[in-house]
Amino acid sequence: MELFGRSLGIGERTTLRQKVASYPDGTPISVAVRAVNGVGDGPVISLLGVQHGDEYCGMEVVNRLLGGLDPESLSGTIIGVPVSNPLAFNAGMRFSPLRPRATRT
Ligand SMILES: [Zn+2]
Repeated sequence: MELFGRSLGIGERTTLRQKVASYPDGTPISVAVRAVNGVGDGPVISLLGVQHGDEYCGMEVVNRLLGGLDPESLSGTIIGVPVSNPLAFNAGMRFSPLRPRATRT
C-alpha cells in the first residue's frame, strides 16, 4: 500500500513524519504517523490521539497498540497518529493557540 507517497509492504511497519500545515512564517507543522500493514487482507482503520492537546491517553493507546502489533497476525492495516493536534499539545493547551482571526475574543 502507499502511505503519503511512501510504500508500505505487506507485513511491514513504519513511523514517519507528515507535513500537515505551516505556521504563518512558512515553518512546517508535521505529525508522526505510525502504521502496521498486516500480512492478510482486511480493512484499513485509523486512530487519532490528542485531538485536544491536554488529553494524553489517546497518544498512549496509539503508541502501545501499534508498538505491540505483530503484522504476521494482522489482517488489514492500522494507521495511527499519536498526536493529531501538535499545536495544542506542544503548547500544553486544550485547543490550538493559533486560531483564525475571526474566532479570537
Ligand atoms: Zn477530546
